[in-house]
Amino acid sequence: MEVKSCRNCRRLFNYISGPRLCQECKEELEKKFSEVKKFIEEHKNATVNQVSEEMEVSVGQINQWIREERLSFSEESGVLLQCEKCAAKIRTGRYCDACKVAFTRELSNVYKRDMANISRANEKKSEEDKMRFLGRK
Ligand SMILES: [Zn+2]
Ligand SMILES: [Zn+2]
Repeated sequence: MEVKSCRNCRRLFNYISGPRLCQECKEELEKKFSEVKKFIEEHKNATVNQVSEEMEVSVGQINQWIREERLSFSEESGVLLQCEKCAAKIRTGRYCDACKVAFTRELSNVYKRDMANISRANEKKSEEDKMRFLGRK
């Protein structure tokens, strides 16, 4: 644990992980987030700039929430982002659906390989258990 100064209020606090914000500012930010989310749901045509002005949050903060996929703008709002991989137009997150599918496929291949290894190991283990069981008989 280290002591850092809060990005927002400059107070010193025990930093663990995540954004460099003290507990109070983090809670404030969460409160703000739910307000912003509600605002966007109620004002589907609002742009990032309008939301920023209405809600008194920085455009940077809103963009961060979008990148984290916590906020998404409707089609009507005209808010568009670019996929970080192929620059396709997206509405939330960092990657387009096609790139996400590609990532998931890569990941699931790794996962499948790992699972195959694990189940092989389990099979071996259950055979050993069986033998141990039979041996005890
Ligand atoms: Zn703070
Ligand atoms: Zn993409």
